[in-house]
Amino acid sequence: MAKLSLFPLTAEVNNQGHLVIGGCDTVNLAAEFGTPLYLFDEFSLRSKCTEFKAEFSQRYKDTTVIYACKAFINGALAVILREEGLGLDVVSGGELNIAQSVGFPLDKVYLHGNNKSAEELMLALKWHIGCIVVDNFHELRILSEMAKEQGSILDILLRLSPGVEPHTHKYIATGIVDSKFGFPLRSGEEAVVQAMSAPNLNLVGLHFHLGSLLFGVEPYQEAIELMLDFAAEMKQKHRFELRELNVGGGFAIQYTLDSPAPPISAYAEVIASKVISKCRQLKLALPRLTVEPGRAVVGPAGVALYTVGVVKDIPGVRCYVSVDGGMADNIRPALYGSKYEAVVANKMLEKEAREVTIAGRFCEAGDILVKGIALPPVSAGDIIAIPGCGAYCLPQASNFNASLKPAIVLVNKGKVRLIRRRETFADLTKCDLV
Ligand SMILES: *Cc1c(COP(=O)(O)O)cnc(C)c1O
Repeated sequence: MAKLSLFPLTAEVNNQGHLVIGGCDTVNLAAEFGTPLYLFDEFSLRSKCTEFKAEFSQRYKDTTVIYACKAFINGALAVILREEGLGLDVVSGGELNIAQSVGFPLDKVYLHGNNKSAEELMLALKWHIGCIVVDNFHELRILSEMAKEQGSILDILLRLSPGVEPHTHKYIATGIVDSKFGFPLRSGEEAVVQAMSAPNLNLVGLHFHLGSLLFGVEPYQEAIELMLDFAAEMKQKHRFELRELNVGGGFAIQYTLDSPAPPISAYAEVIASKVISKCRQLKLALPRLTVEPGRAVVGPAGVALYTVGVVKDIPGVRCYVSVDGGMADNIRPALYGSKYEAVVANKMLEKEAREVTIAGRFCEAGDILVKGIALPPVSAGDIIAIPGCGAYCLPQASNFNASLKPAIVLVNKGKVRLIRRRETFADLTKCDLV
């Protein structure tokens, strides 16, 4: 079945016609842990970490791969990333705390954000995290004062918005001129001057992040040109030395059969060769290259499992197959119009004979997970599996309709480990004061 290729690397079908991932029968997992259930395939996660490190470092020796936590993080995943030797990109005190709670080496952590609070910056200083990616003049000022007060020297990067159109959904385009993220390139010089003259800040280099889900590689080439031209100009005018160039994340993954994504090697090839050729042309020393993948590391490793309840056939209009989750655990279809494929995990060998729409259970008409998809005949109790759910689903989950956030399991070689328990009704009221 073609759709199997969208599932984690270990996906297969057993002789009962059930979807198996990481050696575990997903139908049994649904029965044991309940649904909605999110599962991560450990082999796929670790393979992707290795692939990123290998594809970049074989083309560009001094490469650092840091994982962008906002795609999904919890304690167990942070441990895996630590073991795989990746760094972390965190955007909040919360993400920083999760990393710290499992003993993640904090010198490999980068702090991002367009509006970091004073408390978050203070914590980053106190814990001696690796690098702060400064977004704006206000932050530059308070960070400089804090570092002076603490008597410490802080490594920073400046986040510049190169003004490059990434051809993605407007909610996830970040490197354009009209963006809340970063210094516009035209105020970059002032930022470099201020950062270099701050005695307690060590300006290591520059950062950009164009946006997410970039199916084309050209925007990276364009942005690297602009950034290196800028670095060369700053070197000439202010003796700025670019020691690190951080090109952000944005690497796409394949969600549906008709939207293939470039392999990691294609991004690595374009990025590495552009940095090398452009530095040569401008007579710049090669900087350390940092990449920050989020979605591409966790997205393909995650699968969402749901149980079918009501099947409502409106003759001549549409057949709605309602499941026990939806926009509270995966808001992407409702928020960005994201498309997914799906299978019936307990009927993998049956013919996909009927077009249906998979609806969530939440009280919004827009809570549709998959619009118009061919599935085998479905009825109550069947298990729906959706691939590509490892990124940007769980971290955006809510308790809408006072629903319980799902359990998460990690599967590997026939073993399953619960890495987050399902919420309980008691969790819903534990912060309330009556
Ligand atoms: C979101 C984000 C990333 C990761 O983006 P993906 O599309 O998930 O790879 C990397 N860097 C920064 C600064 C980000 O905000």
